[in-house]
Amino acid sequence: MFFLLFPIVLGVILFSIVEQHRKKQRMREQDYDWYKSAHPDLVTERGVKCACCGNSRINARALMRHTYMREHYCVQCGTTLYYSPEG
Ligand SMILES: [Zn+2]
Repeated sequence: MFFLLFPIVLGVILFSIVEQHRKKQRMREQDYDWYKSAHPDLVTERGVKCACCGNSRINARALMRHTYMREHYCVQCGTTLYYSPEG
């Protein structure tokens, strides 16, 4: 039984490691500067606006501890706009 389950378990573990890595990579790429260059009209000295609904109320929340990243999201529609390092 163990020999049947082993490749499956190993596959699941490898898949989750790769997924986590890709998630972190995406978070690092989608930072404030990325959002600013992607939406230059939405990022001004008066603040940041949501690309989805145009709301200017953006909140930040800490993600899972091991990612050490904060997520900046629109209060109105919940869209994640960009990420920043925690701390
Ligand atoms: Zn929004």
